[in-house]
Amino acid sequence: MYDVAVIGAGIIGTSIARELSRYDLKVVVIEKSSDIANGSTKANSGIVHAGYDAKEGTLKAKFNVLGSEMYEDICRELDVPYKRNGSLVLAFNDEDLKHIEMLYKRGLINGVRELEVIDKNKVLSLEPNIQRNVVGALYAKTGAIVSPFELAIALAENANQNGVEFMLSTKVFRVYKDKEVFTIETSKGKVESRYLVNAAGLFADDINDMLGGERFRIIPRRGEYCLFDKLVGGMVTRTIFQTPTNKGKGILVSPTVHGNLFVGPNAVEMDKKDDVSTTKEGLEEILRGGSRSVKGLNPRDIITSFTGIRATPDKRDFIINIPTKMQ
Ligand SMILES: Cc1cc2nc3c(=O)[nH]c(=O)nc-3n(C[C@H](O)[C@H](O)[C@H](O)COP(=O)(O)OP(=O)(O)OC[C@H]3O[C@@H](n4cnc5c(N)ncnc54)[C@H](O)[C@@H]3O)c2cc1C
Repeated sequence: MYDVAVIGAGIIGTSIARELSRYDLKVVVIEKSSDIANGSTKANSGIVHAGYDAKEGTLKAKFNVLGSEMYEDICRELDVPYKRNGSLVLAFNDEDLKHIEMLYKRGLINGVRELEVIDKNKVLSLEPNIQRNVVGALYAKTGAIVSPFELAIALAENANQNGVEFMLSTKVFRVYKDKEVFTIETSKGKVESRYLVNAAGLFADDINDMLGGERFRIIPRRGEYCLFDKLVGGMVTRTIFQTPTNKGKGILVSPTVHGNLFVGPNAVEMDKKDDVSTTKEGLEEILRGGSRSVKGLNPRDIITSFTGIRATPDKRDFIINIPTKMQ
């Protein structure tokens, strides 16, 4: 019998496992994939957001700012690549300027440090390859970049060294609670545990349904990327966002911690949760979008493309709770 079973070995499941490994507990992580970080954690922008974007008062705003402050130490402890490179949200017209003013105020309410609105000249002196029609930007010095999959692997290794067990290639089919014990039926047999953590990412709604928790749905939203050669990795040193729209944060151009440059992602709602194909239209869209911000992006410098799938909850905020039926 385990004290805690965690379903999912993405960045959330491995972070929780590492934290639990500080205590005298018998912990298991159950992961359907053959390796750590094979879900959304594998293919994303790798940005440690400063925290001005999430709506004030939400869990997302609270934990974004807290998490951003914690990242540097965690990455240092685990020897994972991390860089506080800062980020810019570009404005190209008056409407954008109004929006970044709003983000600035929201950032202050959320508790983001070192945030300022800068003018065109300052933008171009910081980043000479930005398009000349920029009119200003929100500059967040605390924005950072990280290698998300390396971090998840390091968290898992550290948890494992501290005694946490990992069951890989093990899919959870059914979960139920009888008296004080959770029974978890998996492709490798039954597991029993006193507590259960649902960190199944895109599939967290399915696990929640098995337990009869308050219903929510996870909407899969595809994001495609182009990764550029290290030869052009220095075109920008900060993460370059555009002013967000109701469809999301828009296309960004950013260096990676490994010295490459990436452009993406777009945002396409899908029916399937596991379709990681890329499309010609999608790649054209992100290249067009990236070129709105940065001049001189040359498709010949692209070394690969990939897709990640966002887990967008219909409640629009992080879901961190104990389902009422389980209390
Ligand atoms: C395009 C894109 C861009 C993004 N950019 C950023 C960014 O810049 N910064 C940022 O902070 N976040 C970003 N995100 C979001 C970030 O990637 C996710 O919030 C994060 O990776 C979620 O981690 P997770 O552990 O919850 O989920 P996942 O990494 O998906 O892990 C869940 C795990 O559960 C496993 N699982 C599911 N069902 C079962 C089952 N039945 N049995 C066993 N195992 C199961 C899966 O195999 C998976 O490994 C982005 C996401 C995408 C897709």
